[in-house]
Amino acid sequence: MVRPNQRLHPQATLIDATATAEPERTGLQGGIQARFLQHDMAYGELALVCPSGTEPHHALDWQCERPVHLLRNVQRLTAPNAGFMTGPGTNSYLVGDAHTGFIAIDPGPADADHLVRLWRAALHPDGSGGNIAMIVCTHSHPDHSPGAAPLKALCDGRPPILGLPSAPTARAASAFTPDRTLQNQELLAFIPRGLEVNFASKHTLQVVHTPGHAANHLCLLLVEDGLLFSGDHILNGSTTVVDPPDGNMADYLDSLDTLLALCQQHDVQFILPAHGHVLGGSQAAACGAITHLKAHRLKREAKIAAVVAAHPNGTVDDWLPLAYDDVPPRAWPVAKRSLLAHLERIQGRPA
Ligand SMILES: [Zn+2]
Repeated sequence: MVRPNQRLHPQATLIDATATAEPERTGLQGGIQARFLQHDMAYGELALVCPSGTEPHHALDWQCERPVHLLRNVQRLTAPNAGFMTGPGTNSYLVGDAHTGFIAIDPGPADADHLVRLWRAALHPDGSGGNIAMIVCTHSHPDHSPGAAPLKALCDGRPPILGLPSAPTARAASAFTPDRTLQNQELLAFIPRGLEVNFASKHTLQVVHTPGHAANHLCLLLVEDGLLFSGDHILNGSTTVVDPPDGNMADYLDSLDTLLALCQQHDVQFILPAHGHVLGGSQAAACGAITHLKAHRLKREAKIAAVVAAHPNGTVDDWLPLAYDDVPPRAWPVAKRSLLAHLERIQGRPA
């Protein structure tokens, strides 16, 4: 399905209609053209920015200096906080245009340079910056929400900070109180000022509560374009940590089911994560990413259950290297948090 806001090469319909497999796509890496197949991590992003597969000018290299225009009304600016837990850095997104104003999703850490770049990318019709109507945090972890207050202070209109308050279970660094709490299923609609409104010119974000990675996690569906902003619930290139007690594995899996149903209902073809490139390329690919994620978690959980059954008198530290023997030891301290989350779900399950 081609949506009104999606850039479409004239041949794309022909290619889509005749192809039995998804076409190979070309992008730039280090200034050199590289080819990508459907299973490659950057494939979904190329499908979004150049649906025909024949415009090989999209640069896939991570950088923090300039916003990446993913769609007419979606820009991504990556924060300079790349690392073991954050991958290439936190993706801040700007949704909207100069006529409607922008919603900033996940301002990231309180990094002054990053926030000024976000401010600059949110253009008014006269070319000045700071045209931000709302700031939404998908959750309150330190790589997502601390930039919200200083970004608000930079903008003349003092846009409200929206999201879910942190639960009492949150760590101190994730304590967060939004200016307004977003309700599940709430619609954030913004329309152009003084211009004729049609489907393609308005932007509507639907809020979806998705506890699991954090108790106050939410995702946002861009209704007109069938895009899902998945925060840290679904990542590209790394695994979401579920860190109890604020993280909860049963909630995490239930939220995956919620997102799968949402993607099916709204024909979501692309998932835009807070870390990594765009996922998807078709509804089947987007939904496939979610079902794969759930299957991966359940497989790990079955492995943990088997390890525990084989070593009933063992401790968590005994089980960890056995249950995560396919993961490098440097990742075990983080894996231990997810192991505890799986144990909580296994033990909480009715016999
Ligand atoms: Zn994050």
